Amino acid sequence: MQNSFTEENYLKIIHALSGREGLEVSTNALAESTATRAASVTDMLRKLAEKGLINYKKYQGVTLTETGERVAISVIRKHRLWEVFLVEKLGFGWDEVHDIAEELEHIPSDILVEKLDAFLGHPRFDPHGDPIPDAKGNLLEPDYRVLTDVQVGEKVLMMGVLDHAPSFLQHLDRSGITLGCVLEVREINEYDKSAAVQINGEQTLFISLEVSKNLLVQRR
Ligand SMILES: [Zn+2]
Repeated sequence: MQNSFTEENYLKIIHALSGREGLEVSTNALAESTATRAASVTDMLRKLAEKGLINYKKYQGVTLTETGERVAISVIRKHRLWEVFLVEKLGFGWDEVHDIAEELEHIPSDILVEKLDAFLGHPRFDPHGDPIPDAKGNLLEPDYRVLTDVQVGEKVLMMGVLDHAPSFLQHLDRSGITLGCVLEVREINEYDKSAAVQINGEQTLFISLEVSKNLLVQRR
């Protein structure tokens, strides 16, 4: 159990780092993301390669095999469904669910996840706005922009967050920025690129560049 827990997390991280293009991921990047020494990363990569889950040659980057990709997507599916369950059915805040879902995502039962999906009414997005892969493993990544790419005067809908840290989500809660709210960029500060943003046609807040970079939006 503990073993596959770690293996699945590696596959998930490789999936995230290689992006939509399926780029090669370096051992160094993996060591950084997992906060482990490069030597331990190499051991794990060798193990994953033996199981046919990744393509790995020493001194080169890694990519997921088709099987590895399938496992990664299924872990992501479970993670996001559990987050919906925790928020919608158990009343957790969106800032509280990530760590719990990190554990629940490793429960192997396929029946459990399909029943959970049906119980929740086949949700397409998790509480952070991330798309949930379907049972066949199709993952449709919507074409969102970050708020920093929005022009002054444009109105957009807040669709998701790139940063899932509780402190960031709590900051958004305090600012009244939630999924689905309307943001209108009123002014961008030349000096530090902070933006005056009106929320739902009501109060206007100054949003730092760091926050803007982590907000996913789409045209209204
Ligand atoms: Zn999460």
